[in-house]
Amino acid sequence: MTLRRWSGALAGLSVLAAAGLAHAAEPKPAPRLVVAISVDQFSANLFTQYRGRFSKGLRTLSDEGLVYANGWQSHAATETCPGHSTLLTGKHPNKTGIPANDWLDPATGRNVYCLSAPANTIAGGAGGLPVGPDNMRATTLGDWLKDSGRPGRVFAISGKDRGAITMAGHKADGVFWYREGFGFTTYVAPGEDGQAKLAPVLGLNARLKARFMANPPSWTYEHDACRALEADYQIGDYVFHSKVPPERLEFDYTPLLDEVAAEGALYLLAEQKLGRGPNTDVLAISFSATDKIGHTYGTQGPEMCEQMYRLDAAIGRLLDAVAKVPGGAIVVLTADHGGTDFPERSAARGFPEARRADPKILERLNTYLKAQYRLADNPAEFDGWGLFLVDKNKVRLPQPLRGRVAAAAVAFLKKEPDVADAFTLDELLRTRPPRPGTPPEEYSLRERAALSAVEGRSTDVALVLQPGIAPLRPPKAGGAMSTHGSTWDYDRRVPILFWWPGAAGQERFFSIETTDIAPTLAHLVGLPIPADLDGRCLDLGGFAVDACPRAAPVPVVAPPSAKPKKGWLRWPWGQG
Ligand SMILES: [Zn+2]
Repeated sequence: MTLRRWSGALAGLSVLAAAGLAHAAEPKPAPRLVVAISVDQFSANLFTQYRGRFSKGLRTLSDEGLVYANGWQSHAATETCPGHSTLLTGKHPNKTGIPANDWLDPATGRNVYCLSAPANTIAGGAGGLPVGPDNMRATTLGDWLKDSGRPGRVFAISGKDRGAITMAGHKADGVFWYREGFGFTTYVAPGEDGQAKLAPVLGLNARLKARFMANPPSWTYEHDACRALEADYQIGDYVFHSKVPPERLEFDYTPLLDEVAAEGALYLLAEQKLGRGPNTDVLAISFSATDKIGHTYGTQGPEMCEQMYRLDAAIGRLLDAVAKVPGGAIVVLTADHGGTDFPERSAARGFPEARRADPKILERLNTYLKAQYRLADNPAEFDGWGLFLVDKNKVRLPQPLRGRVAAAAVAFLKKEPDVADAFTLDELLRTRPPRPGTPPEEYSLRERAALSAVEGRSTDVALVLQPGIAPLRPPKAGGAMSTHGSTWDYDRRVPILFWWPGAAGQERFFSIETTDIAPTLAHLVGLPIPADLDGRCLDLGGFAVDACPRAAPVPVVAPPSAKPKKGWLRWPWGQG
């Protein structure tokens, strides 16, 4: 190409650039509606796998939204309750006070569900444990809105109580989850009127009941590409037939659960006229079926395939309505944690390390600890992703014995082939948070575990199995096939997608954390960002709001190991 032709081409480029600028959308006023969506167990891997195949709501978010493919639930115990607790609080589970889905009460030895609230009841006699937000020590975006004195409204809806309550917070106007055979229900605190609290969903419940009475729920293939994934798997002594409909069809383990949650969100949007008032409203939705299907059938079969397409369509219906909200809306979609396939299929697909954990580890550990400390009963009780050290009534061992047994358990476990690492709760509570600016994928295992450590609630020993090793035993028919909850990135990495009507697609490659969502949204809608958050405000662009407030740069402090030792030669030219 000659010089003349080069300059002509450059001139053309500058014209194009100017045209692009001329067509850039005008910044919009701050949105009047925040829609926060969680897709339970929607790993970044699952998002990537289906991204090119989505054609509806998830396509809109992927193509027109700000796509952070490297979003992180940075902590170690990647379960539903702790993961959801980070989404709208801006805090890691060590500060939300929710380290796991459940734990042992240290004094009584009783199992405590993460949202257990014994004084409450469930509205309408819908059944289920009494729950409420009392165990959550952090406040949410919705709480900040309520505390601001602005008359915005806050609603949350989900297929699971813990999906809704953790995102709603303490002061929401309505928090609803689905109970098959009843409809949407909520919790009722002492002195509250259950019927009044259910009023926003009574019409919806009547509609759903009439529909399911006339047409009992069913699940059939809609996509031939999914049907092609049918296969049989030998799992222990049980043959799993991976197909749709599954052999045991339960409503909660089908895409219908998410379709009902989306219908609930649309109902609240319309009936409550969200985003139509002069103030910002918040609507949180947690879609639970991806998690339930992932656990029961794995992530790589026809069941998850059908689920992905139907979730895409449900989110599409939701976005169509959100796009019509006159006051404008901002949507964020992410996940409470990731997940992976069941180990037998992973092993057959070139990952021979994938397997179920040696079920005898606990037996060996207890034999060792009993002999070492002359204990009459097994002290180690496995709970999710760690060990409680207890007496025969499941009451925690007294100190200082508990500390000594924990240290011995950690030393023993580190020699087990299935174990990557183990930590005592005491050492995790003393661990400093990761240095500011460290990407979450580079947090050490200990730092990850420390972000899950809560005094009085976390296990006495945190256990990190080797990557690909599931803590589950081979399931019986219909039991959990696979799980999440590990410290590894297949369970920690989640997509974080921001979108609003008129947004222009953008890929953002640097890592962010789910704790960044709440301060970002707070700033966007003009709420002050609480000072004690772990997350930071992200500039989304597209809205006529100031750039995020920036704290003074954090001075870079060398870690102790990097201190020059006596006699070290230093490079005179700075870093190479
Ligand atoms: Zn789960």
